[in-house]
Amino acid sequence: MKARLFSTSYVAAAGSASVEDSAAMRMSSAVLDAGLARVMETSCADLPLGLRRFTKSAGAETAVAAMRNAADRVLASYEATFGVSAPISASRLCDLCGVELLGRRPPAPTGPVYSTAASTWTLGGHTGQLSINAGRPVIRIPATLDTALARVSVAHELSHVLIHTRESSLDLATIRMTSTPEEEAVAEYGARLLLLPRIPLGEVPESARSLAEYCVAVAGFARITVHSAVLRLADPDISERGIRAAVLWRLNPRVQEDAPVALRLSPQWFAARGVFVPIGKCHARQDSLVADLAAASDSPVAGSRIEDVSIGTLVGRFRVDAFAWGSLTAGTRLVLFVCKAGPEHRDHSLT
Ligand SMILES: [Zn+2]
Repeated sequence: MKARLFSTSYVAAAGSASVEDSAAMRMSSAVLDAGLARVMETSCADLPLGLRRFTKSAGAETAVAAMRNAADRVLASYEATFGVSAPISASRLCDLCGVELLGRRPPAPTGPVYSTAASTWTLGGHTGQLSINAGRPVIRIPATLDTALARVSVAHELSHVLIHTRESSLDLATIRMTSTPEEEAVAEYGARLLLLPRIPLGEVPESARSLAEYCVAVAGFARITVHSAVLRLADPDISERGIRAAVLWRLNPRVQEDAPVALRLSPQWFAARGVFVPIGKCHARQDSLVADLAAASDSPVAGSRIEDVSIGTLVGRFRVDAFAWGSLTAGTRLVLFVCKAGPEHRDHSLT
């Protein structure tokens, strides 16, 4: 069943399973999430046991479709119980799934704070914890002041619970197995589905004209990490937006403050498929859109242009969008960079 949550204000996002499962969609989807792309390109019979049982018990053809079905069921129940709310409450999601949530909740942010954390499991393992106590799943909120990261972490762990739930009972055999990269990718996709089921076009300021600014606005609206918001825009159930790659740039504390801004900027994370961007080990190019916007002012600023890009193995001529915010003088300036395939696009990294 398709969740009706926010159905009026969100762009059409949920494709039917038949559309998603077509070979064409399989190739073009999840362009930013390399792990999820690998799951989609793997035959169900070759997936780990937990994902195979999950897919079969959901009556779905793919693990990705099974995750969407599971998330839709939870969100339909959420809407019926609590009505439409934004942002979606992670603790209410846990309540609906019979999951106990332990630990301190990070303080609610007093203003627009955008989490720069990358995915909850790729960097240094899980930030959240899932355990079973007397047959009941228990999720421990990670010890972090980053509300968005904590929310995504809890939703990620909840997605593990969904993966190991058959009908209404836990599959204790598979939930006790060590997780796999394939399961992690599906759980991370589940976290995005649960916290951002549809893209809130109606809630994003009209000023958010660049795709990069739009991603940051969506992250703030849904209280998820910017990383999750960026990946969500290229998820398999979302219409193709032609996003090729995204990089979050931050000021490198090891570079002197009087150095040119371009030299001070370094990738904090990247989201792309089939390319490699060295994290913290390269700098922006002089006169690039990223460097220009970072240096422009201490105010939020967005821009767009067609530009030659060379970041790690991401090389080509792309239409690029960027959004800079935070303060250069305070050392908190960030730039989200999104490059899109377009009519002018020549992508050397694919050749
Ligand atoms: Zn996990």
